[in-house]
Amino acid sequence: MKLSNYVLTTDELSDVGLDKKRIIFSTRSATSILVEENIYENLTAGNFDIIDSEMRNVLEEKEFIVPEDQDEFSYIMAVNAKVKEEGNYLSMTIQPSANCQLGCHYCGQSHSKHYASDSVIDKYYERIVYLLSQKEYEGLAITWYGGEPLTGYSSIKKTSAKLIELAKERGLNYTSDMITNGLSLKPALFKELVEECKVSGYQITLDGTAESHDTRRITKTGDATFDIIFKNIVDVTNLPEFKENGCRISIRVNIDKTNYQYVEPLIDYVNENKLQGKVSMYFATIVDFGGNDAGKDSLKKDFFAEKEIEWLLKCYEYNIAVNVMPKRTYSVCMAEKKDSEVFDAFGNIYACWEFPYSDTYGKGDSLIGNLFFPKETYNENATLRNWNDMLTSGQTWCKTCKHLPICGGGCPKSWFEGTPACPPFKSNYKDRLLLDYFIRKKNEELRSATI
Ligand code: SF4
Ligand code: SF4
Repeated sequence: MKLSNYVLTTDELSDVGLDKKRIIFSTRSATSILVEENIYENLTAGNFDIIDSEMRNVLEEKEFIVPEDQDEFSYIMAVNAKVKEEGNYLSMTIQPSANCQLGCHYCGQSHSKHYASDSVIDKYYERIVYLLSQKEYEGLAITWYGGEPLTGYSSIKKTSAKLIELAKERGLNYTSDMITNGLSLKPALFKELVEECKVSGYQITLDGTAESHDTRRITKTGDATFDIIFKNIVDVTNLPEFKENGCRISIRVNIDKTNYQYVEPLIDYVNENKLQGKVSMYFATIVDFGGNDAGKDSLKKDFFAEKEIEWLLKCYEYNIAVNVMPKRTYSVCMAEKKDSEVFDAFGNIYACWEFPYSDTYGKGDSLIGNLFFPKETYNENATLRNWNDMLTSGQTWCKTCKHLPICGGGCPKSWFEGTPACPPFKSNYKDRLLLDYFIRKKNEELRSATI
């Protein structure tokens, strides 16, 4: 047996009251363990025999210790391929509207007042029926994206009715979520979306408090949007239907040099409005979307990672849900899944949801094809479909990176554009491991106090 290449560790933790201890993390199993320094020393020295048998079994089971002759990179890629092959949900993204009310400077799309017509909806349906016939699936998962999807609500309603019926006929589970700017998400519409269209997950972007958000996420005519969107979030999360249907809202904050100062006040505002238990928060860096120079004000990776820890900690103190630790990632995103496609309002098919309505990626090699043309004309090797080859050939840093099993390689589009896609976790994992440890400890204490 040998020590796995895919092990991360904090420093020794006496500074935080954990004398002669440290946290080790296997990215192969996404498991962290608090261990005594002497165990860590024996582990790194390969003295596995003198580690007590119970601990040693855990270290083997959680893949800190792996077979001597195993080529770990090949093993991980083989496991990923198997899990992908066995994937039992057909996951599609539908962008039924080329329109959006907002004019965010960092958006890479060209908007037009075009919505999926009945004939396009029929083609969505036909293609999904065809894909379902290619493999045994247990479920159908639809993500609505745009433009702003709710500007094409009538197309969403018609498509959902057909797909929900299809899933019912075939005995498939049906799940749906939506990336929306939240401007039109009024309670009456929300109820219809949840009850008729079965959309239960929502991602809504707020770029800081009003002071910052309203300089960036404004309407095309320059009007402010923060107060409307925030009120919508408060109103819909107060509906009984929100809880009854297990709905989730993730607030995404797009961050660069011009607005990172407003993230903390936004977290305070979420807390003041008592949205704990109703929303989660996610902090994202702004990058170029199709060569539009949106990333020119990006924060340096290390600085972002440092600030992110402060934001995560603040959310933790307020009991606002955040994702502190990554999970094992078997598939980086839809781009590499051959059966996962994006449809736009014109019937175009792509492999990445950032491609539709983009001047750079809307046509040419990025286009798989169009639903109105025979499938024999489709380009199976459209841009990003070869992500696995890029990764295994070593064109990115991922082949030798300890984070690969949890990261999967980041965003293929970013690497394709020549920008390393490493997530902040790579820079702040030591702090995150510690934060995760304290969260779990607090949860255990709360559990034992209630028994
Ligand atoms: S390639 Fe990047 S932008 Fe496109 S779907 Fe994947 S993660 Fe998203
Ligand atoms: S994107 Fe960066 S962190 Fe992720 S596997 Fe590749 S090199 Fe590692």
